[in-house]
This record gives sequence, structure tokens and C-alpha cells, in this order.
Amino acid sequence: MAHSHDHAVEILTRNQKLVLEAMEKSSAPQSAYDLLDKLRPHGVKAPLQVYRALDQLVAKGLVHKLESLSAFVACQHPSDEGHAATVFMICDSCGSVSERTNACISGDLRNLATTDGFRVAHTSIELHGHCGKC
Ligand SMILES: [Zn+2]
Ligand SMILES: [Zn+2]
Repeated sequence: MAHSHDHAVEILTRNQKLVLEAMEKSSAPQSAYDLLDKLRPHGVKAPLQVYRALDQLVAKGLVHKLESLSAFVACQHPSDEGHAATVFMICDSCGSVSERTNACISGDLRNLATTDGFRVAHTSIELHGHCGKC
């Protein structure tokens, strides 16, 4: 997976780097406890260390939380600043997740919200179904 978020990665703490690396090795979403299991050999032992690293990675836009699964995935295009609306396609058979952003959906949602004076900070759409391979 090609990543061009070198600048953001440079300023990550050790725990944040470990969490991100563990996520990038798998295309399937990881729960905080999945990550904790993988990172135990690296000396990460407390769930709080993983939660804190995840929160910070989410805030940096390097990781997304999938609310419907209570799990996390590494961002598939972290160099894309225009991440206003993110659409995740989650395969319920193999567990793979692919991430797309779509400017039309973003614009439509923003128009819908601003009509009511609502200011959008974050949009995430999760589609469940079966991927092309399943
Ligand atoms: Zn992303
Ligand atoms: Zn699949």
C-alpha cells in the first residue's frame, strides 16, 4: 500500500507508529483489543495506551473508526486533504474494507446540513455488503 503521509508519520509517538504499522499490515478492520494483542510483544500492555494512540491517529486523519464495527482501519489515502465525506465499503464475507471519497456526496451532504445552519466537521458513511471477490 503506497502512503505519502511521511510528514505526519514523522511526528508520531512510538505507540502511534506501532498501532499504525499493525493496521497497515491488515486490510481488515482491527478492534482496539486486536491491536493490543499484536502490540503486546512490543511492550504495549495497557488498553489505554492503544485507545490514546488510536484517538490521536484518528484526529490526524491517518486512521478511521468504523462505527458499525467498533473497529479501526488505516486511511487508504491520507494525502487527500479533501476527505470531507468518506465512504467505506465493508465486505461482510471476507471482512475487507475499501475507502472512497466522493466530492459530490460531500457537497450534497454539506448543502443538506447548511440549510439547517449545521456545520459539518466529520462525515463517514459505511456500506455493508459483499465485495467483488465474494
Ligand atoms: Zn481516509
Ligand atoms: Zn469480500
